[in-house]
Order: sequence, then C-alpha cells, then structure tokens
Amino acid sequence: MGLESSSDRESILTILKVLGDLLSVGTDRRIHYMISKGGSEALLQTLVDTARTAPPDYDVLLPLFRLLAKVGLRDKKFGQKALELEALDVTLILARKNLCHSQNLLHCLWALRVFASSVTTGAMLGINGAMELIFDIVTPYTRKRTRTIRVATEVLAALLKSKSNSRRAVNRGYVASLLRLHQDWHSHDTASTYVPIRRGFLLCLKHIVTLRSGREAFLAAQGMEILFTTAQDCLDDKSVEPIISEALQILRLCYPKSPLPLVTASSAYAFPVPGSITSEPPCVLTEEDFEDDGDEDVDRGSSSEDVKEEDDDLETDVDKLSSKPGLDRPEEELMQYEAMCRELSCSFEELESQFGDNVNFGEIQCANHHIPTAASSKQHCLSKDQSCRGQENEETAQTSLLHKVKIGRSTVHLASRKRPVMNPYQNVQSNGLGRDSSGNEIPNDQASLKEDAEDLDAIFCSRLRAFFSNSTRPRETATVIDKLLKTHPKRMPFHDPYLYVAKAGSTRSVVDFKTMAFPDIWGHCPPPSAQSLLERKRGVQRIKILEDVRRLIQPSDVINKVIFSLDEPGALQDMASNCLRFFSQFESGNLRKAIQVREFEYDLLINADVNSAQHQQWFYFEVSGMRSAVPYHFNVINCEKPNSQFNYGMQPTLYSVKEALLGRPTWIRTGHDVCYYRNHYRQSTAATGGAPGKCYYNLTFAVTFPHNEDVCYLAYHYPYTYTALMTHLDILEKSVNPKQVYFRQEALCQTLGGNPCPLVTVTAMPECNSTDHLEQFRHRPYQVITARVHPGESNASWVMKGALEFLVSSDPVARLLRENFIFKIIPMLNPDGVINGNHRCSLRGEDLNRQWLSPQAHLQPTIYHAKGLLYYLGSIGRSPVVFCDFHGHSQKKNVFLYGCSIKETLWQAECTVGTSTLLEDVSYRTLPKILDKIAPAFTMSSCSFLVEKSRASTARVVVWREMGVSRSYTMESSYCGCNQGPYQGLQFGTGELEEMGAMFCLGLLILELRSASCSHQLLTRAATLLNAEEEGLDHHLQR
Ligand SMILES: [Zn+2]
Repeated sequence: MGLESSSDRESILTILKVLGDLLSVGTDRRIHYMISKGGSEALLQTLVDTARTAPPDYDVLLPLFRLLAKVGLRDKKFGQKALELEALDVTLILARKNLCHSQNLLHCLWALRVFASSVTTGAMLGINGAMELIFDIVTPYTRKRTRTIRVATEVLAALLKSKSNSRRAVNRGYVASLLRLHQDWHSHDTASTYVPIRRGFLLCLKHIVTLRSGREAFLAAQGMEILFTTAQDCLDDKSVEPIISEALQILRLCYPKSPLPLVTASSAYAFPVPGSITSEPPCVLTEEDFEDDGDEDVDRGSSSEDVKEEDDDLETDVDKLSSKPGLDRPEEELMQYEAMCRELSCSFEELESQFGDNVNFGEIQCANHHIPTAASSKQHCLSKDQSCRGQENEETAQTSLLHKVKIGRSTVHLASRKRPVMNPYQNVQSNGLGRDSSGNEIPNDQASLKEDAEDLDAIFCSRLRAFFSNSTRPRETATVIDKLLKTHPKRMPFHDPYLYVAKAGSTRSVVDFKTMAFPDIWGHCPPPSAQSLLERKRGVQRIKILEDVRRLIQPSDVINKVIFSLDEPGALQDMASNCLRFFSQFESGNLRKAIQVREFEYDLLINADVNSAQHQQWFYFEVSGMRSAVPYHFNVINCEKPNSQFNYGMQPTLYSVKEALLGRPTWIRTGHDVCYYRNHYRQSTAATGGAPGKCYYNLTFAVTFPHNEDVCYLAYHYPYTYTALMTHLDILEKSVNPKQVYFRQEALCQTLGGNPCPLVTVTAMPECNSTDHLEQFRHRPYQVITARVHPGESNASWVMKGALEFLVSSDPVARLLRENFIFKIIPMLNPDGVINGNHRCSLRGEDLNRQWLSPQAHLQPTIYHAKGLLYYLGSIGRSPVVFCDFHGHSQKKNVFLYGCSIKETLWQAECTVGTSTLLEDVSYRTLPKILDKIAPAFTMSSCSFLVEKSRASTARVVVWREMGVSRSYTMESSYCGCNQGPYQGLQFGTGELEEMGAMFCLGLLILELRSASCSHQLLTRAATLLNAEEEGLDHHLQR
C-alpha cells in the first residue's frame, strides 16, 4: 500500500486504478484482506488529504469515492474510521460545493451512505448538517437527476436510524416534508418508474415513527390518511409492492394504541378458591420487541412457522436431569390409591359380580364394531336390534386397525384427496341424494324444519332467553330435545342425547350454566372426508389492516354497538334489529362481548380464564339471526398467542342446527379470508403498573352461513365438553361385554369446582378363575394415559376418545392390549377448566401442567392424586411401561411426542462434561419411531427429547425424573392438520384425531412386541394375527 507515502498525483491515480481493477474482479476475500492491512484508513486519509488541497482534484476524488463505497460496505468499522480520520466533514463540504454538479455529488453521497451505516457516525453526520444537505438535494417529482435523488433518500434513511437524527427530523418538520414528497412522487410517477425513490421516502418515515414524537408528528400531518390512500390506490399493483409493504408497516406502527373495550381484563367469571391466586404475571413486551415484525411476515414462506425452542432453556444441571426417586408426601398416604387398583386384589368372583350379568349390555350400542378410523365414511352405528355381543362377532371384526397403518393407507387417502371437501354442507346438499352420511333418508321437510327452528329459537336463542325463568329451563330443553329426537331420529355411535341432558344436570359450573349447547346434546358425526388446508389468499392480511385503518380515519359507517356482553347483564340486543345474536353461557362457552362494527362485521372478545386476566385463545359461542349467503366478518380481537396456525391453513369450526336436523350433525371447518395478526390493542399501563402493556392479536375470518335464521355455533376447535366425556364413559361402560372387558370408572378426586375427575381402568377379564389366569391378570404391566390438562386443547379429548373406544373394541389388537396390560386413564385432568370455557388454567388461574413438582391436595387435587396414583404404582413395583399426557399444539402441524433424554439435552446444550460416563437407555425413542411408521398423522421429525428448565414441573418431566419412567411423554396433536404423510395438505377432522388415539394404542402393542421382556405367548399370538393380516406390518415387528 503505497497511497500514504505517495504525494505524486500520477502514482496515486495509478494505484487507485490498479486497486479498482483488482477489487472489481476480486472476491470479498480480496477486499477483506485489504481492509485487514489498513486499506480503509489509507483510502480515507488520501480522501482527506486530496479534499484539503485547493482546488480539490476530482480526477483523484471520484475513483477514490468509488473505492471507498466498495470497501466501506465490507468494513464493519468503516464509519468509526471515517469519523476518526475526519473524513466526514470533508465529504460534507465537497457535497455542498457540488450541489449543482450531479456526478461529483453522486460520488459524495455514495461515501456518505456507507459512513451513515454506522449509527454513531450517522449521528455525527446529523449534527454536522447532513440532513439539511439531503433536503437540498431531494425535490418534488422530477425526471432529472433521479439517480442522485435515489441515493440521497438512501443516505437519509440510513441517517434516520439514529434516534437523535430522527428527533431532529421531527423538530425540523421533516415528517410533513417527507409526506408531501411521498404524495407528489406517488401522484406523478404513474408508470412506477421510480419505486426505489418512493420507497426511500417511506423508509425515512418508518425510522422516524419508531419515536413517539415521530408518530405524533405523523398523525398530526395526516399521515394515516395519506398512506392509507396510497396503499388503497395501488394494492393490486405488484410493481409497487415494496411501497405498499412499507406504507402498511408505518400505518401499523402509527395506529394509536388503545386498551381493549372491556371494563377489566380480568375474567368475567370469578370463583372463590382456596389459597391465593397465583396467576403468573402477564408477560410484558415492549414496543421494541415488535419493531422487526414485518407486515405479511407469514407470506414470506413457512419457515417462520416453527417456533424454535430457546437453547438457554435447556436443563444442563446433571443432578436435575438425573432420576430422583422420592416422595413429595408421607408414604402412608399412598394407601388410599389401593382402592383405585382393585384389579390387583379382588377375587374372580368379585370381578364377576362387580359387573354382573344384569348390566344392560348392548342397550345403547355395541362398541365391538367401532374402530375409529379417519377415512371410514360409514358410521358404525347400530340400532338396538343390530347390536351384538363381541364374542359372536369376532369373525366379522376384520376391519382391524392393522389395515389402517400408514403404509397401507395411501389408496384410501388418495381417494379422499382427489376431492377435498371444502364445504361438506354444500357437498351434501348439492348431491341431491337426500341421504345423510349413514345412508339414511333425510327428513327434508322444510315445513317441519321451520317449526323445529322455532322451537330451537325458543330454547337456544338468546333473543327469547329472557322470557324463560331459570328454574324451568332444563325441563324446557329436555322437552324440546325430546320432540326433536322423535321427529329427527339420528343415532350416533357412542352418543346419547338423553343421557347427555341427564349428565349435564350434575356438571357444576362457576356461574351455574342453565343452558346446553345444541351440538353437545345432539352430537357430532365426522364429515365423510377430511377438509383441505385453506389456501391463503394473497394480501388478505393487508386488506384487513387497511380495513382497521379505515375504521379510524373514516368512521362514518362504523356502528360500534355492543350487542352481547357478559359484563352487562340484561337485554342488550334490539330484537327488531337485523344484527346477529350471540350467546355463550353454556359449558365450554366463553364469548365475553360482541360489538357490531358494520352491518356484517363483528368484533368479538373472549373471556379470560376464570380468576385470571389472560389466556384468551379458545372460543366457543352460539350465533343466530343470520341471513344465508351473506359473508359475515368476525374479528376476535383479544387473542394472545403471537402466531397461529390460522395463518397456515387452519379454519375455525362451525355447527349448524338446521344442518343437524337435516341429518348432517357435523362440526365442519369453515371460514374464508382467515388471518391472524397483531392489532393496536394494548393492555392498559394501569394494569401493568406503568410498564408497557402486552399486545393483542386479531383472529379474523368470514363465514357464510348455510341457512337463514339458523342457530349456529362457532369454535376454535371441535368442542368436547366434560359432560360429553361423562356421557361417553357411561356409554362405553355399558357397551362392553363384561365377561371379556374389565372396564371400571371411578372418581380420582373432586375438583375445586366440585366435579368428579374420572379415572378409567381397562384390561381384559381373566378367562377363568384358575390361579394361572388370575396371576397373569394381576401381573399385567400398567400403561398410564392422561389428557386435557389444558382445557382449550379439545383435540386431546378427541384423541383420547379414539383411544378409549379402540381399547374396549373387539379389534384383535385391542384384545391383545387388554390381555397384556392394565390401562389407567385419566381422560380429563382439568374438568373445571373445560366446563368454564378456560383455555389454559384451573379455577385458580394456574396452569396445572406446571404444578407436578409439588401439587397440593387442596389446591391442585387432580394433579396431586394423579401423581399419587403413579407413586402408588411405583411403590408396589408397578410403574407404567409408558406414561403419556395428550395435548394440543397451536403452532405446529402433525402429531408428535415430547420425551426426556439426559444425553440429548446435554448434547443440544453443548454441555458434554461427563456425558461419556452417563448411561442412558435409548428406549425412549422406540415408541415415537413406531408411531412414525404406523400412524398417518404422526411424524418423528417434530419429536423432541430435550428437558427444558421451563418444563421442570410438567407431567412428562416429573413422571420421568421422580417416578423413573423412561418412556414418559407429552403427545402433541396439531389444532390444524398435516404437512407430511398421507394426510398432507389436510386439516384434522375428529376422525383423524380419534384414529390417532387408536394408533397410539397399537404403538404400545408393537413397543411391547419389540421389547426383550415380551412373553413368548404374546409374540406367538401377535405373529398369528399378523399373518392373518396383510404383510404390511411385518417389518415393523421385526425385533
Ligand atoms: Zn397443552
């Protein structure tokens, strides 16, 4: 590098030329080499020296600026170096001197652009008048000097990244100037020739409005109106895409933040509970947390879909990862659980008499036919005279689950994929067959439907609700249901409306619900085939955001009328008006408020979990009084999760009462223009003690209802109430052949809300009372499955329903399972949460799946006793082979397991000290590998076996660590659907979820067959079974 010592002009020019040539063909490596050898400093020094000679020699300066621009881009410390060598001032002076000399000016701007890329240097340039200089260069629309103007806007945008420059820009009134420039260029540049210049102005504004004073200046200068108009003008013009994108980001940043339209964020429901409410403080996010959150981020590809686990959450303390058997309570206490394991002690006679012959077996349905499979279009629903005992039906049980394993399914699946049902209702209606999914004739009598609808209106619609006194309601409901059932006979497997109504009588809710939702009473049949993921319409989010802005700046057509509110009891609804009617005071219902915004648009607010001020995500409500063929827009405005599968193909679910009466009692996925994005509502700073309030998200979707004046129900996911579970368990119990299936349900404990938490035991009855058989019966290993600790995860209940129905079925796999295991199942760990429409918590406002480390009997009874039961099994040497807790996942697709591994956790945390001596049985991987092969919805690739600190008090980690159960899992089922395997591109229906439950059980059997301890007898029987089946499964079973 001879620049510094060269005083001779010719040699400097030569060196610059050589350098320019070298670097123009060279790669980054050459430039970095040059930088490392002090190249930047040498160039900058030459600049300063040359600029200070009078007159400046532009033959040297221009190639020098070109080199500086090139090198500066690669040198992270370039701005700092320029500052130290006083290159800023000379460049600014040169630029000012050359305002009329485009070529020279442009070269100076290139240098300024790289100087300004460092915020400190940018701030210094600002102090020295760089912004004023730029405002002398940028002009209203012109076709001259556009290259210079473009670079000038880029310099300005870089300068405005510095907060002090932004502040100065606000004080000098540049916000209004930039808006005027933006408008001028926007109106003249009709051919979109100068998009980069126009985007440059917006980038400048975007940096300024990150300051509060910038936003105020923007609003005062009518920025919302101006950018709204711009964006509206060119929404469909792809060539100005970068401009719309910036404009929308600015609009979102500047939309005035406001508190939710609620009297309080706390739940409308409170319940006196023991102990102090320990609801965790709401997570506080600051404005800065969102700065990088661009508009339409979801359109940038699906990679952002997966939420990455934080590595620093991994547990690296080997001590905390090691098995630590021990009790959290006195040992004597465990004896109470002996009574819950009567199978271990009672005699054969007691077993016999316990179930007796007097049970009305087969009265309701015969379970032995039903294997939940997603693609079965036919419901195995048997009327009374068709019902039959399992043992008479063994030969017909050929529809073994083994037929449905992943590899054997492709043909079935392809058939359903060819014609994905977008709207099952329409599909049935348009086929004109007048038959429902079971092939029964539909009583398609419109007159009777109308009459029924009036009855329904009386019972289910809020409009007339006020006319009924509470005491007579249940009877009224029962009467109407009775009448409807007589005129619309509809048998559904494992469901009974009469029993449901009876069971609901003993379900205890916090505010004493008097009403039942129709779908829960009437029941649900899965649609004949799965529905496709909704294809996201381009630009749907920006249209919604512009609509939100329009509400603010053109409020003339905004109605803003509260038409339903849990906080304002009494009739809010104007009966004469045309608006929709809402209701949610029924089990699992949780709509808190509905506000009519425009004629066909409603803002909805979900109730927070009881005794909490947060966790709004799940929703379930009734809506009526609609017109058909009109799209109604719904905005759920107080959602909490930062992202949702609603952005990736998921739709909410809808149930139409009229459709049900026409023979199609089905929850379907519905809604178009679905999207989920952060809105302008913030928790009030008063509620957070002055800290910036957390933000909320909009779920927005449009629904076109199938009938006029219908009663419909909308939900986050297929509802599954506590009463539905209790009804289901009774039906299951009555459906089994007590000589073959040992099925017992009892109460694990009472919940805080006074509801029994059911515990189910399923195994096979001993064949006879010989000692051998009784011994085998009593020594069967345990399997423990739990679900629905999180009430909003109704998908977990559907998976559980499938598992339960499968386990009591006559499927040969189910028989083998019963004969070899005792299943202890707690199908709903949080009944109170489910009943009261919570999303996450118990009545104490706490997440029960964070209470497993030290649950207390009087505060978290279901967790305390679930843990107690597991302790008891451990104390008698009978810890379960597998423990699994079923959950639902809102951010990912497919079904997958979370397990626990010390080694994987330490490896992942790159904490390998001492791991070589750690011994770990890798059998925790076997079950997920098996499920990956057999279950269509399951994928190994989403499974994780890491132990996170934040999960230390979950069922999975505690059962693994304290009970020493190496196969302790959480099974997560997507709320949405699948992006792999046979169900790729489909949303889950209840059928797919139920099938997953059955597949999970099959997985347990295969796991046993592959274990070293598997009995010879079981292996032989499984082999026979498999030989009788297709070869499909063989390779899964090879040991
Ligand atoms: Zn969960």
